[in-house]
Amino acid sequence: MGKETHRVTTMTTISYLLLVAVLLLVDLSSPSLAWGEEGHYATCALAEKFFSNATMGAVKDLLPDYAGGSLASLCSWPDEMRFKYRWSSSLHFIDTPDFKCNYNYDRDCHDSQDVKGRCAAGAINNYTSQLTSFFSASQQYNLTEALLFLAHIVGDIHQPLHVGFSSDLGGNTIKVHWYKHIANLHHVWDSSIIVTANERFYNSSTNTLVESIGQNIMQGYRNHEIDEWRSCPSDDLACPDIYAAESIKAACKWAYKNATPGTFLADDYFLTRMPIVEMRLAQGGVRLAAILNRIFSQGQVHTS
Ligand SMILES: [Zn+2]
Repeated sequence: MGKETHRVTTMTTISYLLLVAVLLLVDLSSPSLAWGEEGHYATCALAEKFFSNATMGAVKDLLPDYAGGSLASLCSWPDEMRFKYRWSSSLHFIDTPDFKCNYNYDRDCHDSQDVKGRCAAGAINNYTSQLTSFFSASQQYNLTEALLFLAHIVGDIHQPLHVGFSSDLGGNTIKVHWYKHIANLHHVWDSSIIVTANERFYNSSTNTLVESIGQNIMQGYRNHEIDEWRSCPSDDLACPDIYAAESIKAACKWAYKNATPGTFLADDYFLTRMPIVEMRLAQGGVRLAAILNRIFSQGQVHTS
């Protein structure tokens, strides 16, 4: 009896410790900083479909050999580096004032120390500008890193909750149920919607998802004007303020809506939000290609 009680107590202690460990892991898993791997892969793989010859050459030149010429294969690299490059963590997102549902560069683009420009939009401008030195003889930047950061952050800024409210860290502190799992809302938009779409509609293959979105883009994405996605006002090479403003609008209209803490999110939410996620991946891919094509067209000899 005594032994049995001891065994039960030990088992209870072990169960308790396991529970604590699981809870700690759940807490440590946030906040997350990016589209998941699938989202970044999709953005870059879509972009590759629209590279000009000049961009293909420059990207191949800048990628390390082990990438095998695939930008998509290294598109999540800045997430892997976020602990080594601690300075880079504020470059993955933008915090905007709660419930305002708008974005303003001067007001919102800074890090936690209030250093101006240290947000996703500032980073896109900075790395775009660094890459324009690709054709100059002397090199002061690491352009491989500039390319990988630009490709990654153009993806991130299109994830609506990467331009989210300050107080909930872009949905990171909003715990919800995703079907049978507990997740935070940010993670639902980074990963869960894409993973569920892959499982249900794309043979569990991100490449099949990419092909499907690619087809839609070629056919004029559900009546959207693709040239409008590509273009920037006043001939800017990139226009991240536009991408950021779209994201916080979509965050309010689709991500935060009907997703308060404790909500059970299932088919109703998934099936209405999946088209938004796919469109943001499409826009990210088209725009990443457009930015790189504008940057690298500068080295071409124009004969007309
Ligand atoms: Zn990121």
